[in-house]
Amino acid sequence: MNPPSAAVIGADLSGIACAQRLSAAGWQLRVFESQRAPGGRIATRRFEAASFDHGAQYFSVREPSFHVAIERARLAGMVERWRPCWPRGDQERGELWVGSPGMNALPRFLSKGLDIEYGARITRLERTRKGWMLIDDRGAGQLGRKLPEIMLSDTHLWRHARVETALGEPFLLDQSGDLGFCGDWCLDARVEAAFLSGDAIGKALSETRYTDSSGKMRDSR
Ligand SMILES: Cc1cc2nc3c(=O)[nH]c(=O)nc-3n(C[C@H](O)[C@H](O)[C@H](O)COP(=O)(O)OP(=O)(O)OC[C@H]3O[C@@H](n4cnc5c(N)ncnc54)[C@H](O)[C@@H]3O)c2cc1C
Repeated sequence: MNPPSAAVIGADLSGIACAQRLSAAGWQLRVFESQRAPGGRIATRRFEAASFDHGAQYFSVREPSFHVAIERARLAGMVERWRPCWPRGDQERGELWVGSPGMNALPRFLSKGLDIEYGARITRLERTRKGWMLIDDRGAGQLGRKLPEIMLSDTHLWRHARVETALGEPFLLDQSGDLGFCGDWCLDARVEAAFLSGDAIGKALSETRYTDSSGKMRDSR
């Protein structure tokens, strides 16, 4: 039997964590990302003379599973501890880290080995008899459209910038167990929460379809 397969929409921290979990469990995967690089709201912009992080500035690490991923990134030189002089009480934030040399070093590192298609904005999902079909916006005549002047300035307006009230559960799965949703909005407005959400849904899915010790595919749904 063929290995189970999945498509992940978004090469952000939650998407990457989910995809890595499934990939480690032997799933065939493809990640679709509308932008040209991984990271989502972890983003670094480069100019000739400088670069700056215009999304998340740092991240905290509290949970062991995120710690494991960050330790791998540290050994590869992609993240560093950050020890700011903040007022007392801020220890609650957990260990603080930054990407090195920029925040986007973290998603770039964590996404290594994944099959990611960039520039693919998924606009529709269709359930077919063979599974899900993803439709993207290429060919829809939108890409070449000239934008009004004001949108061509260097301002970056983040959409869905900050979660105000999180769902309170690590992810959502539909009844069939075939369609799932994850992201920081599930747990908290933090980089670590996005990772934990993606990791949790990847783990849950990989436990529904797995290869047993004799090499047979099992479906426990
Ligand atoms: C300005 C700012 C500062 C922040 N500062 C901090 C901070 O200091 N510390 C901290 O821990 N957190 C911070 N955050 C929050 C943190 O960035 C987020 O919690 C985390 O990055 C969210 O990750 P995510 O995986 O949930 O989704 P996102 O990072 O939002 O990623 C969504 C991804 O999906 C892609 N996508 C969406 N729709 C489609 C589609 N239809 N087809 C294909 N691809 C699609 C997007 O291009 C994007 O890559 C900050 C956020 C902002 C905006």
